[in-house]
Amino acid sequence: MRDPGAAAAAVRKQLKSGEVTCRLCGRPLADPTSIRAGYGPTCARHRSAERARKRDRRRERRR
Ligand SMILES: [Zn+2]
Repeated sequence: MRDPGAAAAAVRKQLKSGEVTCRLCGRPLADPTSIRAGYGPTCARHRSAERARKRDRRRERRR
């Protein structure tokens, strides 16, 4: 169910408990968007960069 109000309430609850940390690096998250994603923007970028690197490597091996 998509309920932005409930999602925001859940985020607020998590923030209050102070247990919202990045799934990838364990740093506390402050941005609601990051909290919902489970990781911070920096880690999100790292993750997509890693994926792209893996794809490139596979492509290189094919050659
Ligand atoms: Zn992180």
